[in-house]
Amino acid sequence: MSYDYTTKWVPKPTPETQEFWDGAARGELRIQRCDDCDRAYFYPRPLCPHCGSENTDWFTASGRATLYSYSISMRSVYGYEAPYSIAIVTLEEGPRMLTNIVDIEQTPEHLILDMPLEVRFENRGDHTVPVFAPAAAQFEEAAA
Ligand SMILES: [Zn+2]
Repeated sequence: MSYDYTTKWVPKPTPETQEFWDGAARGELRIQRCDDCDRAYFYPRPLCPHCGSENTDWFTASGRATLYSYSISMRSVYGYEAPYSIAIVTLEEGPRMLTNIVDIEQTPEHLILDMPLEVRFENRGDHTVPVFAPAAAQFEEAAA
């Protein structure tokens, strides 16, 4: 088996995650919510992680999030040019998501915890992957 070390790896959708990836291809951040306890969750799965209910539905998240935590990798791998961030964001709806932060300098001085972010969709061949960038409103605030 040979690996392509020059391009970013892409996910292999499963029956549980297909809707998430199909949504990303349409430019929608699709996550699930439990109809019994009304809580949103991610990653995709058929049972609510909060109460165990099978009564769950997909919906389109707002795409707004805040920066919860991150690490800056100083080593280029698989199409990721160092430095790049590996981040966990908290979606407006509550769930946390592992992602990358883009369109900003990858330094601790720029990547501020709790900073407002919004989703972007990065095309990788046949796949589309959600990433996050600083929210536009933040720039307007900074420019004012
Ligand atoms: Zn539930």
